[in-house]
Amino acid sequence: MKHISVRYISEVDLNEKLDSIHDQYRSGRYCSILFHIYSGVLDRDLLISISKKLCSLFETDQVIGSISAGEIKNGRLMDRGILISVMMFESADVKVYRFPNAAGAEAEIGKRITGIADNTVDVKALELMLPGTNLHTRALFENISRCRRGIQVFGGYAGGHSMESSEHFVFDADGIYSDMIFVVTYAGKDFHISVDKSVGWQTLGVPFRVTKCDENRLIEVNGRPAVELYEKYMQIEADEHFAEETFEFPLMAELDGEELLRHTITVEPDGTLLLAGYVTEGMKIYLCYGAPADIVRKVDSRLRDVCEFRPEAVLLYSCSVRKSFWEDFVNVEMMPFQQIAETAGFHTWGEVNRDPKNGNVLEYNITLLSIAMREGDPTEPIKHIHVDDSVLKGQTSLIKRLTKLVYATTTELHRAYTDLSEMNDKLKEMAEHDGLTGVYNRRTIEQLISDCFKDLGKKGGNAGLIMLDVDFFKKVNDTYGHAIGDKVLKTCAKLMNRAVKNIKGGCVGRWGGEEFMILLPGYNPEKAYRFAENLRSKVESYGFGKPEHITASLGCISFGSEDTLNEIFIKVDDALYEAKKTGRNRVVKA
Ligand code: GH3
Ligand code: MG
Ligand code: MG
Repeated sequence: MKHISVRYISEVDLNEKLDSIHDQYRSGRYCSILFHIYSGVLDRDLLISISKKLCSLFETDQVIGSISAGEIKNGRLMDRGILISVMMFESADVKVYRFPNAAGAEAEIGKRITGIADNTVDVKALELMLPGTNLHTRALFENISRCRRGIQVFGGYAGGHSMESSEHFVFDADGIYSDMIFVVTYAGKDFHISVDKSVGWQTLGVPFRVTKCDENRLIEVNGRPAVELYEKYMQIEADEHFAEETFEFPLMAELDGEELLRHTITVEPDGTLLLAGYVTEGMKIYLCYGAPADIVRKVDSRLRDVCEFRPEAVLLYSCSVRKSFWEDFVNVEMMPFQQIAETAGFHTWGEVNRDPKNGNVLEYNITLLSIAMREGDPTEPIKHIHVDDSVLKGQTSLIKRLTKLVYATTTELHRAYTDLSEMNDKLKEMAEHDGLTGVYNRRTIEQLISDCFKDLGKKGGNAGLIMLDVDFFKKVNDTYGHAIGDKVLKTCAKLMNRAVKNIKGGCVGRWGGEEFMILLPGYNPEKAYRFAENLRSKVESYGFGKPEHITASLGCISFGSEDTLNEIFIKVDDALYEAKKTGRNRVVKA
């Protein structure tokens, strides 16, 4: 394949360059062609006219365009220009599909795209070119995630140059669209592609929990307005500079083990943050920071893979936040790719990538997506190309040291936090359970019975309650000693736990001494009696060792909301007393 990138300067200049490319294309070597246009210029008529020219000269409709927050030509940022990437393929089958009127039909379109991918012979990758942040792409991606594993998915969101830009359109020879999705299928036995993202931002401090959100609107964190995260921890006020001030400190959200960075586009008056990308309720989020050394390290590791892959073309889809973060040094992380192969791309408003581990297609922020392509076998091996970060040395030594300090203290803090939450879990476990038998203690089982009782008051129905007392237990202690007595209690608890294991809401608690309570939500008198009888016979037949056999007496009732809690406890106690009085090793129902 051949990749050529062309900057639009003037019509005359473009005509000349295209003529030469056209000659190459007509040489008979190539079978298909694909044009990407990335534009920092928003002149709609000009964009359509350039697209039209490409279509008519090359007799193709495979021309798709996106506005961009920065165009990447030969690994360098080309500000506010129009960049045309021309890809000519020798044997690959590359096709453009268009999905107009996508707003509201995202799920349906996702299914259609999956259908196309699964029915394309030797398909290797899908590219998505998406208009800005207007679409609910979660439904789209969830459906595309169902396409055959192994198909790579990548893409980018359109958006203008400034952080406050409200322009988000894609285009082709027929028009400008804010709700069109372009899809490209890359297929062919000899076509090879390697897609991956590099990030490098690090988490800062302890995690927070998303408590209220709606797609990409982050409303509350830990039950407080989301903006307080930045006000409290970063001293960043919710004013017109908010987006600019926070992009160095984006949020990282954890989704199915994936780390998704999210930067803020705007803050609303009620403290809601409008993010570039969705979040979900219950998700853990962290504040993050970007440190040049970490970012360079991540890009370097990706460069190693790309060098090994030995591509003939590279597309770079890099988040606009990276451009703002690096400022004058943005080329540092992009230029090495040009040393490997002809490189073109753009700064996006969100990147699309598929997680190879679970097949999920997700929307990312702040990543550098590198898409390396090749037809046929790789050429001669090339040596590993590194990011040349010598220009950063003087610039970043202070930042480097400060971020090192932050990182070290964060790690310590994090460890302390983890220890503390583990300790809390242990304390909770201790406070709720009986130390000897491991079942709930009296306070907890009483609470659970009371909760269940209140629940029946609201929803109706009934629950079974069983009180179990070990027979002649004093004798066990007297004959075998206290330690054996303890063992018998533990074994009884084990038998009860086993019996309730598969019952929804079923639980066991130690009422005191050798007395236990068993709660069985949803159990009517017959079911509760059957359960109790079953348990009695299990205890009777169990081989305890020393003493060989143990029996227990059980009182059994089923209660509803018409009783009082006090009556319930008296009834079950009476039933147990009756079981003791009438010979032990039996169940009596009230
Ligand atoms: P019944 O059949 O009438 O229930 O007779 P019983 O001997 O089981 O009942 P009683 O209430 O007279 O005796 C209960 C004994 O349980 C008395 C007490 O020492 C013993 N006990 C209470 N808690 C523990 C414990 O944690 N470990 C041991 N080993 N014994 C305990
Ligand atoms: Mg007893
Ligand atoms: Mg007793």
